[in-house]
Amino acid sequence: MKEQTLTPSEIESICSRAGLGRGDGAALIAPIVQSTSFCRENIGSDCAHQYSRVSNPTVAALEEALGQLEDAPPAVCFSTGLAAETALFLSVLRQGDHVVCSRYAYGGTTRLLQQLFPAFGVETSFVDPTDLAAVERAIQPATRLLFFETPANPTLEVTDLRAVCELGRAANVLVAVDNTFLTAALQQPLAFGADISVYSTTKYIDGHSAALGGALVSRDAQLLERIRFIRKSTGGIQTPFNAWLTLQGLKTLPLRLARQSESAATIARWLSRQSAVDAVYYPGLGSAQQRALAAAQHRGADGAVVSFDIVGGLDAGRTFVEALQFCRLAEHVGSVETLVTHPASMTHGDVPADQRAEIRITDGLLRLSVGLEPAEVIIADLERAFAALSAIGTGSGKEVVECPAVG
Ligand SMILES: *Cc1c(COP(=O)(O)O)cnc(C)c1O
Repeated sequence: MKEQTLTPSEIESICSRAGLGRGDGAALIAPIVQSTSFCRENIGSDCAHQYSRVSNPTVAALEEALGQLEDAPPAVCFSTGLAAETALFLSVLRQGDHVVCSRYAYGGTTRLLQQLFPAFGVETSFVDPTDLAAVERAIQPATRLLFFETPANPTLEVTDLRAVCELGRAANVLVAVDNTFLTAALQQPLAFGADISVYSTTKYIDGHSAALGGALVSRDAQLLERIRFIRKSTGGIQTPFNAWLTLQGLKTLPLRLARQSESAATIARWLSRQSAVDAVYYPGLGSAQQRALAAAQHRGADGAVVSFDIVGGLDAGRTFVEALQFCRLAEHVGSVETLVTHPASMTHGDVPADQRAEIRITDGLLRLSVGLEPAEVIIADLERAFAALSAIGTGSGKEVVECPAVG
């Protein structure tokens, strides 16, 4: 199996030239085609686009680029990442089917599978994806889909893609991988044997906190046709304007991710030296096994999200976040501005406390989505927050942790 389908320079070229026109008088960048409908010369004449719920030229330009990035036919784009996931589930599952899903999946994925699909007779087992025996045990005769997300949100566990894809193949079950955090620029799930790459383009691909969006990428022509049928039937297509914004973002994706990942790694190392930090989660800093997986799967960088646990729990977390003057508190990752999230009260606020504990979301856990600002500027802001912590005595002044656990 090919694992390096595209070189970094091919990826940069596809991104920077996404939607580029050619020919006398052609628009250089993809135009925004807002039209809901397209004309035909005759009844039955075959034209590329008919109605924008089914397909649209601006959306198609984005789909072509996202497919190329994984050596695949055009992607299928949706209005949001969760619309893409819903369409995937409707495409491959029916009453009586079973799903195996990573227990570290995005909260919205868990909500769909736990709170919505059971009403339609689809059950899901949630497993620790780093325990391959547990994944294998969870596969039943009725299992139709394995769903993973790596690195996981927010504790950044890396799942062994090759191993889980082999489990799927052996059981004749489709494997989907949510690749939102790294994107095709840093990780190519299909090259490891996954059947479908899943994206919230809202995050790194748009990258400017300007457009919601989702995408599914696959090399399985029949599956793509089914997904397009579901999209046409349920109406979750991306809008032309958001597709256009996403195309503009895509052009700088490899550059942004390279720079933001480099800063994230610097900040993760700095955090691991702070006495008020209990643990730092970053794929490049975890256990030897996690580091080896990251090195094998990630292409040149480990992404721009860092999570860390601060001593003192919820109160310390609140003091810390309120002392930040530069980083913004927001439920989002993947943009050019540095954002901090308190998962226990924000992204995972709906998850019961005992389940949160199981996936290591403690009250003192903070998730940092590192932006394009210089790392030293972000670190200076974090320093201010640590100083506020020691001033109230929950931080380094009181409970000194000698050697912060890493990973
Ligand atoms: C945000 C996110 C989603 C959902 O995407 P929306 O565009 O917000 O619907 C899915 N998976 C991951 C990993 C995400 O971060």
